[in-house]
Amino acid sequence: MCGIVGAVAQRDVAEILVEGLRRLEYRGYDSAGVAVINQGELSRTRRLGKVQELSSALDAAPLAGGTGIAHTRWATHGEPSERNAHPHLSEGDIAVVHNGIIENHNKLREMLKGLGYVFSSDTDTEVICHLVHHELKAAGNLLAAVQATVKQLEGAYGTVVIDRRDSERMVVARSGSPLVIGFGLGENFVASDQLALLPVTRSFAFLEEGDVAEVTRREVNIFDVTGSPVKREIKESEVTHDAGDKGEYRHYMLKEIYEQPTAITHTLEGRIAGGKVLDSAFGENAAEFLKNIKHVQIIACGTSYHAGMAARYWLEDWAGVSCNVEIASEFRYRKSHLFPNSLLVTISQSGETADTLAAMRLAKEMGYKATLTICNSAGSSLVRESDMAYMMKAGAEIGVASTKAFTVQLVGLLMLTTAIGRYNGMSSEMEAAITQSLLSIPAKVEQALGLNEAIIELAEDFADKQHALFLGRGDQYPIAMEGALKLKEISYIHAEAYASGELKHGPLALIDADMPVIVVAPNNELLEKLKSNVEEVRARGGLMYVFADVDAEFESDDTMKVIQVPHCDEFMAPLIYTIPLQLLSYHVALIKGTDVDQPRNLAKSVTVE
Ligand code: GLU
Repeated sequence: MCGIVGAVAQRDVAEILVEGLRRLEYRGYDSAGVAVINQGELSRTRRLGKVQELSSALDAAPLAGGTGIAHTRWATHGEPSERNAHPHLSEGDIAVVHNGIIENHNKLREMLKGLGYVFSSDTDTEVICHLVHHELKAAGNLLAAVQATVKQLEGAYGTVVIDRRDSERMVVARSGSPLVIGFGLGENFVASDQLALLPVTRSFAFLEEGDVAEVTRREVNIFDVTGSPVKREIKESEVTHDAGDKGEYRHYMLKEIYEQPTAITHTLEGRIAGGKVLDSAFGENAAEFLKNIKHVQIIACGTSYHAGMAARYWLEDWAGVSCNVEIASEFRYRKSHLFPNSLLVTISQSGETADTLAAMRLAKEMGYKATLTICNSAGSSLVRESDMAYMMKAGAEIGVASTKAFTVQLVGLLMLTTAIGRYNGMSSEMEAAITQSLLSIPAKVEQALGLNEAIIELAEDFADKQHALFLGRGDQYPIAMEGALKLKEISYIHAEAYASGELKHGPLALIDADMPVIVVAPNNELLEKLKSNVEEVRARGGLMYVFADVDAEFESDDTMKVIQVPHCDEFMAPLIYTIPLQLLSYHVALIKGTDVDQPRNLAKSVTVE
């Protein structure tokens, strides 16, 4: 979600902080701010809007100082405005940035008002800085004050605090929102994502839940939830993609769509041998965990949820186990039944999705046999807390609308299908056929990207549309759902997806010439059924756009435009049909002139509930 960057250095840090924010801007972007300590005084600049606004303000009036914190906000409490932008100050002494939500902020606010503190924003965050200020009077040092403060906070936070009177120290605390410490030479840093710090260091230590750390130029001291000193391993970052670079592409989203053949090649590397998926693809000791699985419960949100929906068809059909898929925010707040020998699978690009993380923790308490996460972010909470992890290796995904993460998740789930199927009667021929298909996906995706020109033309038809309907059957139904989500996320066209057999149970009432209907039609056993559904739409004057296999025998006419998708086998078909739908939403968004990479109201890495 929002971005946090902090630094303690000898040189001026404002520029480093702002460059860090730029790299995190995809996470949240309604306002941004920076505060630095200069000769014992706090100077702060905040701006409504994007990091560029802040950056221009700092160009006009630079801030000097070697200790500072910065933030891009994704508002949860209080409208996006300059006065609500972080950092927040208390009495001109303490400055705080915060990612997350303080749930008991009302109670704390009343208490602090009673103590004479005056609030200057509507945010929940402001209670943190006044509370630190108050606690400092008794605690005597900033570390102890922050430790006393976090004990009183309910909710989720990643927070960084500085005190103008103690100018070479930051204190950081993590509970529910990620924070990573970056180690430099005679300077140290903190951020909500290592991407922010790649220009200044590649050595990182991830804080764990409940950790509080004090960071000076020479030292980093970390304390766990009980207040005892702990060591967190310092690792060299393996992130190879420089997220700051869009290269030849106009948008990150387009770059990421085109990166899919490479991302899929990376995710397959070293994981298939002799016609088999290696158990080690899911981490050490995975074979032990996978052996006795009879049921799979998948938990995810948004795009990842659609990947999980597709996997349900595969796990039940090919791996011979039952499978449920549920949205994390639902699962975590209802009582659900635990099947014997159940594997809990979470899917999350960032590994920090708040609802998914909470659902995984709940599942552990419930007694699931094992937990597996399919995740793109090494060192993330989901990876650390799960028994097994399938690391996606898709490279940084910056576009808020997920593209390459989705197709790589599908690859991971297809691998999981064979890994579980093997212990539940999947024949070695079947496994070999699936692995064969997996290995040929990158080349097929490349071919599917060749549809770009045809789709640019098609996109024109959507420029004046307010609504769209996506149809698919079987494992293409989740692909239709993902297509609809992509279109609404970035072009703001209202789009719904239906399993095409459901048409006659309601949505047919919506069909007219203003409601384009997008159909995904691979040549599978459901093709004839799908064709009947297409006729139902045609008979009611609907306009259709059919993405069809060459052999599916659809022909363009007045009511139907057919886009031929390269022929592909049933295992990879959902993945391949995703590509033209991604391109379609991208080009429609371009025509509509929306902010493709940072669509309104959304943010990447949803670390709040
Ligand atoms: N809840 C805080 C606010 O609304 C922080 C939001 C964020 O994570 O950016 O200001």
